[in-house]
Amino acid sequence: MTPTNFPRIIYFNPGANYSENTDFRNPPMNEEEIHEIPEFKFNQNQDSSEKKNCVICMEDIEQEENVKLLHCSHLFHSECLNKWLLEKSTCPMCMTSINS
Ligand SMILES: [Zn+2]
Ligand SMILES: [Zn+2]
Repeated sequence: MTPTNFPRIIYFNPGANYSENTDFRNPPMNEEEIHEIPEFKFNQNQDSSEKKNCVICMEDIEQEENVKLLHCSHLFHSECLNKWLLEKSTCPMCMTSINS
């Protein structure tokens, strides 16, 4: 059997794909909504030795990096959070719904 004769048993079905990846209670956010979350530069209190960690990329959040703070008071790299929110509208840390 050559690859060209191989029966096409795998059909691309965007509808099925969509329902598989979507949690209907927490549908993904659109880019407009994501941009409404205020972005700021991380500026750690000099007195604090505690390192902030972004759970999405597992890297430390460094001084002057662009970050976003969710209403559950969890902090993430802005870039990491933007990508995350295109798929889910929950906090990556505590799974609280961001739209609520
Ligand atoms: Zn990150
Ligand atoms: Zn949270």
